[in-house]
Amino acid sequence: MSSQLIDGKAIAASIKEELKAQVASLPSPPGLATVLVGDDPASHTYIRSKHRLCADLGMQSLHHQLPADATQEEVEAVVRQLAEDPGAHGILIQLPLPAHLDEERVLALVPLEKDVDGFHPVNVGRLAMKGRRPEFVPCTPAGCMRLLERSGVPLKGARAVVVGRSNIVGLPMALLLNHADATVTIVHSRTVGLDEILGQADIVVAAIGKANFIRGEQLKPGCCVIDVGINRTDSGLVGDVDFETVRQVAAHVTPVPGGVGPMTLIMLMENTLKAAQKSFQVRELQAGGAG
Ligand code: NDP
Repeated sequence: MSSQLIDGKAIAASIKEELKAQVASLPSPPGLATVLVGDDPASHTYIRSKHRLCADLGMQSLHHQLPADATQEEVEAVVRQLAEDPGAHGILIQLPLPAHLDEERVLALVPLEKDVDGFHPVNVGRLAMKGRRPEFVPCTPAGCMRLLERSGVPLKGARAVVVGRSNIVGLPMALLLNHADATVTIVHSRTVGLDEILGQADIVVAAIGKANFIRGEQLKPGCCVIDVGINRTDSGLVGDVDFETVRQVAAHVTPVPGGVGPMTLIMLMENTLKAAQKSFQVRELQAGGAG
């Protein structure tokens, strides 16, 4: 069997066109504010690509750069100021923050309606609860869900295995699959019997950070594999799954690059647009109430 590729680049491009039209219909452009503490080159690259995509979509972006030794108070002051800024519809704090900063306290300062990364503790809590809806869902897992949906992969009743339990990817991914009525298992570095668990999975989401970690021999024939991993190796960028062996077994697989990465970015833009739409609605209601 040779897999069907899930083309994240093409799916993200089609969503981009949909978003562009919606942006153009707003009274003023949505604004995304990014905050970066320190000089990590990879973080700079991510931030640049976010700003470039904003410009492509006709959205505004503003960037706050703080030194690696910025104090908790300095970082919090920037976030507080952005929280009050009506032009910043979405606020993104580039993670991870340097170890001396209290990440939870910084994230909690982002107003719920501007939490386009979906990392505010209230949004995370709502995502974990039955019958509750977060304002925003974290972008990478939201992008993975969109890839599954657009590829027609059945979710209801499917056995899904999420490899990794990080706050950014693994955990919210498992929660979203649970909301979609998949039967979800989370595995991690302490899991015993990984092969047996993977061998039963209809859907595998790999978010580990280890190059080519999951191999085709471990998988159930006909499964769907979403590879979140981004690993820089001597032979270039690779995912967490061994693409060549996995594509012999799986019915669907995402490539790296060109799978989940472009979806993460476009989901951030979608969340920012949604934040702006809501803020314009609130303003209209207030204007109506005043008149
Ligand atoms: P983390 O390092 O925060 O989490 C990795 C997870 O993998 C942990 O839960 C860890 O388990 C688990 N793990 C490690 N070793 C094993 C093992 N041998 N068997 C099973 N599980 C294991 O990484 P992130 O979640 O932040 O990122 C994961 C990958 O996704 C990275 O490559 C990252 O670059 C990429 N990424 C890609 C994005 C995109 O847009 N495409 C966005 C975000 C991340 P434990 O909890 O026990 O330590």
